[in-house]
Amino acid sequence: MAKKQFKAESKRLLDLMVNSIYTHKEIFLREIISNASDACDKLCYKALTDDAVGMTRKDFYIDLAADKDARTITVSDNGIGMDKTDLENNLGIIAASGSLQFKKDVGDDAKDTDVIGQFGVGFYSAFMVSDHITVRSRKYGADAAWEWQSSGADGYTVAECEKEGVGTDIIMHLKPDTDDEKYGEFLEEWKLQDLVRRYSDYIRFPIRMEVSKSRKKEGNPDDKPEYETYREVDTLNSMVPIWQRPKSKVTREEYDKFYRDKFSDYTAPQEVITVAAEGAVTYKALLFIPGATPFDFYSKDYEKGLQLYSNGVLIMDKCPDLVAEHFRFVRGVVDSPDLSLNISREMLQHDRQLKIIAAAIEKKIRAELLKLLKENREGYETFFKHFGRQLKFGVVADYGAHKDALSDLLLFWSSTEKKPVTLDEYVSRMKDGQKVIYYAPGENAGSIDKLPQIEGLKDSGTEILYFTEEVDEFAVQMMHSYKDKEFRSVLDGEIEDSGEKKEDAKDGAGENEPVLKFVKDALGDAVREVRASKKLKSHPVCLTAGEGLSFEMEKYLNAVQSDQPVKADRILELNTAHPAFAALSRAITEDPETAKKYASLLYDQALLIAGLPLDDPSGYTDLVCGLLLK
Ligand code: ADP
Repeated sequence: MAKKQFKAESKRLLDLMVNSIYTHKEIFLREIISNASDACDKLCYKALTDDAVGMTRKDFYIDLAADKDARTITVSDNGIGMDKTDLENNLGIIAASGSLQFKKDVGDDAKDTDVIGQFGVGFYSAFMVSDHITVRSRKYGADAAWEWQSSGADGYTVAECEKEGVGTDIIMHLKPDTDDEKYGEFLEEWKLQDLVRRYSDYIRFPIRMEVSKSRKKEGNPDDKPEYETYREVDTLNSMVPIWQRPKSKVTREEYDKFYRDKFSDYTAPQEVITVAAEGAVTYKALLFIPGATPFDFYSKDYEKGLQLYSNGVLIMDKCPDLVAEHFRFVRGVVDSPDLSLNISREMLQHDRQLKIIAAAIEKKIRAELLKLLKENREGYETFFKHFGRQLKFGVVADYGAHKDALSDLLLFWSSTEKKPVTLDEYVSRMKDGQKVIYYAPGENAGSIDKLPQIEGLKDSGTEILYFTEEVDEFAVQMMHSYKDKEFRSVLDGEIEDSGEKKEDAKDGAGENEPVLKFVKDALGDAVREVRASKKLKSHPVCLTAGEGLSFEMEKYLNAVQSDQPVKADRILELNTAHPAFAALSRAITEDPETAKKYASLLYDQALLIAGLPLDDPSGYTDLVCGLLLK
């Protein structure tokens, strides 16, 4: 019988398949099983309108068999089947437009394998593992059965054959093993079971296979049992994915178990989120907020992404495009029948659909987090402990593009409430006349609490947000304001509302001018300015940064990029009401040399309080000792 030739594009695709890397080859089974499932779907659908079919959904199956001697894997279905024309049209060519598109998308070889891994290329993928394929099929309603045979690129034959019953058998003859590629492994029962569970677990028809089992021999004494093996047909797939079941029908325990198994996490998820959408794109999503921070979460090893299914068939294990960077902690699955497995139906289409799904998922996660914040504060605080930092990173990222969607999800420690609060809560408690949101950055709440600069605000009962994470200041700089209230650092900015002291300080500035000038001259370029403080109460000095870079930012940036050190402006503030100031003032007239030492001592103290390194630590100790011995 003369062989018919494949179309040119098909040949190119076959080459691609055959040369694909081994790890991707195993998806052939997923492709063949998906085709079988589609064929069952088609006949099942026909049965709805045509009584003559005489079958219902539960009558369909997909059978899997491996024959080690013949080295074949057979996948049989009792679906719609194919006649001679179908075989030639469906298996003889690949839709020309689709394969052209495919070639365009694929480009170089590195990308080839990715496309195969993610979307597969249908029936042809069987040639990755087979050197010969026989397809026997009888179409529903036809009398004759047909046999299609091919050994790959050199063409195929079609001839009439015998076949009981409607449906299709795909018989794949595996290639010989090589040193690198052990195709024979696909004949092993465990391997087939594993592949079905991994890729085709949620196919809606039973995938059956005869497997070996062992059981206790009958009449055996319990203390000395004997076992025998026997063979039995098992359904390998669990059929109905948990995300296809309505949320009300699934217990929390079932969700927890699913999450733990699927994502290998010991800790149960904190929140379970379900989405069911119909419209521009139809899909279901089952999402989880982990109950613990994955150990590598804040490292570059952590890979974000959701599992992507099309009608219960796994397409991609971690699809990064489905989840926004700031919600990268979310795990879960998305299943959409609109994402066809066949790449010939245009990759660009997928892209658009994925974007729609991703946008809806982002919205949903945000809504769920707001709900948690409102209804379960403790739960939200736990969540925030794990992933709050990621939200703050999200505010800073992409030049603040996502700040509006994230700012009301943030928590900061409050000086007055002694617990984490939202910006909304802060703003609602602001005093009459208070114009700005005060914050104070530092190592931890304890050390911030002792900062001399915040004493005044604390005494007047003004709420201050304590920033203990490096990203905090970057985040508020990016936000600039919240509900029209600007953020202001207690350390770096002016304090407007501390009341009475303000005027005193201003008045004092005039007569104190010579002292301030003396100190500035003594310190030279180390400080940009020396001024009378409006915020100090019981402490003699503090350091304030100028516009822009704060001290906490300086510390952070110098820690992460030590090769290009940065320096915030240093403004030394002196408490003119403090006895130390009076002593300094006296010394200037009586003993200017000692007064210079005082100036430098005060500056060093200000550096220490700000947590900044001293310019000259040993000079500082010499100075202290020198004054002690006076
Ligand atoms: P796709 O399934 O994405 O269309 P394939 O190359 O896998 O691409 O299959 C081509 C066509 O062959 C299918 O669309 C279907 O019409 C037909 N086909 C494949 N396998 C079967 C089967 N088991 N039963 C009936 N038809 C099948």
